[in-house]
Amino acid sequence: MLSEFDLIAHYFTRPARTAALGVGDDCALVKAPTGLVLALTTDMLIEGTHFLAGADPRRLGHKSLAVNLSDLAAMGADPRWFLLALALPEADERWLGAFSEGMFALAEKHAVELIGGDTTRGPRNICITAIGTLPPGYALRRDNASPGEDVWLSGSTGDAALGLAHLKGRVKLSEEAAMLCRARLETPEPRIALGRKLRGLASSAIDVSDGLLADLGHIIEQSKVSAEVEYARLPRSAALRECADRTPAAECLLAGGDDYELAFTAPADKRKAIEAAGEAAGVAVTRIGRIVAGEPKVRLLDASGNPMAIGPVGFDHFR
Ligand code: ADP
Ligand code: MG
Repeated sequence: MLSEFDLIAHYFTRPARTAALGVGDDCALVKAPTGLVLALTTDMLIEGTHFLAGADPRRLGHKSLAVNLSDLAAMGADPRWFLLALALPEADERWLGAFSEGMFALAEKHAVELIGGDTTRGPRNICITAIGTLPPGYALRRDNASPGEDVWLSGSTGDAALGLAHLKGRVKLSEEAAMLCRARLETPEPRIALGRKLRGLASSAIDVSDGLLADLGHIIEQSKVSAEVEYARLPRSAALRECADRTPAAECLLAGGDDYELAFTAPADKRKAIEAAGEAAGVAVTRIGRIVAGEPKVRLLDASGNPMAIGPVGFDHFR
């Protein structure tokens, strides 16, 4: 039987690279970066709520870290370190091996270092705390959008939710589309490179984890402005365009969640620079609307510029 300490040593201990002291002591030690601000975030994934029982452990290791890195990306921060608090019903070595592989593969890609955590027996629960750095004054906050700015979106939304709807039998996708959507659901790519390049360009940003309209709602509430989103401009993947179940597909696009794209705002004179930032980061960026003055509300406009009906959770109907 694997002891708690063997488990930590075997699956979660790597030589410290940038940390002064990594896993193994009462605390990790890192040198406070001179002249920089720390960005700190934590996100918990609970079995049954955020992932299905029996979820692939490698993909789960990736996603647990990805959702935290996505928060750093949305702030424009450079990821540096993370801590992992893990509750597991048993020390299943196959599960642990795959989980740690998935997590460390993403960690290496973004040069972020696991420096500590906690391990305990209990219902499966994964909580990661990630720490990044930023030059002072450059954080992409939610409360800084102004009237006249463009609203932008990276990549496209809806695929992850469509993948989940397919798994639950609510929509039917082709085999290829199902595979793509499932990958977006289970192994999202945090938009770290884009977030970093948006520093000094974007005025506000958020990562889309709860649905595009809902998350855009957070920017406009905190910025005390209103937003107009042009429905026809919203980027749609081939999988979403091809989905014959139109209403659920539109729901996923607008309100699906688990997208981990960046929604952000910027003045119109930054358009060229933002397109260049997207290109350099290897991700499409699309202008989807604008910030206007008025009570905090996201209005969805049809092709003629008329408001479309949006219900309390997502929207009412689309043809
Ligand atoms: P303490 O009792 O002082 O909290 P623990 O016995 O919980 O220490 O942990 C021992 C060491 O292992 C600590 O450095 C802790 O940060 C680290 N650690 C525990 N669990 C994990 C984990 N899942 N991933 C990475 N480090 C971990
Ligand atoms: Mg502990």
